[in-house]
Amino acid sequence: MSLVTLGEVLAAARREGRGVGAFNVIQVEHAEALVAAAEETGLPVVLQISENAVRYHGALAPIALATKAVAVASFATCVLHLDHAEDEELVDEAVALGFTSVMFDGSRLDDATNRETTRAVVGRCHDAGVSVEAELGEIGGKDGVHAPGVRTDPSDAAAFAAETGVDALAVAVGSSHAMTSRTATLDLELVARIRDLVSVPLVLHGSSGVPDDTLVSAVRAGMTKVNIATHLNAAFTRAVRDHLEANPSVVDTRRYLGAGRSAVQAEAARLLRLLAG
Ligand SMILES: [Zn+2]
Repeated sequence: MSLVTLGEVLAAARREGRGVGAFNVIQVEHAEALVAAAEETGLPVVLQISENAVRYHGALAPIALATKAVAVASFATCVLHLDHAEDEELVDEAVALGFTSVMFDGSRLDDATNRETTRAVVGRCHDAGVSVEAELGEIGGKDGVHAPGVRTDPSDAAAFAAETGVDALAVAVGSSHAMTSRTATLDLELVARIRDLVSVPLVLHGSSGVPDDTLVSAVRAGMTKVNIATHLNAAFTRAVRDHLEANPSVVDTRRYLGAGRSAVQAEAARLLRLLAG
């Protein structure tokens, strides 16, 4: 099946009160596991490649084109999404490579520049048929910035979405990136207030630190796209570690990476079902 846009997938989910899982691809095994999870559940999945992952590989194209090939060969509904891009050139490269969605993260820019730059990115992406997610204010946890007190103001969010024309908006409601314990609490009343005022689907970043029942409550309160990366990396690494401990003489990388891939598929499928309700 060909790739679909984020706007299309999220609009249907928001209408039906469902959440959509958005999971990060670092190795090609992640792409294979996540697409298999989408096939297994019959639910759409957002395959995200972050600017950090691009930095790790030294380039966007190899991992992006591999991920795209896995998705296109599948019957699952997949969105190919660039996650947390601060670099506009990287956004343009993603559009040229066939991504169907990008997140432009201008949260570190001053407010007026973020609005202006996001609007320009939206213009170029929409001309190419690509969805745009943006962020207003900074969600904690990236590059050591931990800001648990940061909250999005609902009317500010509504104005930002209207001014920029984005298709989805990441909001700060209590989660923080890269948490390895699932102990975050969310301001669900704030989620509902933002949901009532903002016309586009909302995105929860840093959901790895949010327990299952709170994720379900967040979707009920109005979250649509739920980003989970660290939690799935933990599942991958645990399976690889267990395999290596149980098989200390293994040399074939397929043995332990395959164990990691199976673990990610199982947990991603469980999360897709949980979020879809
Ligand atoms: Zn994020």
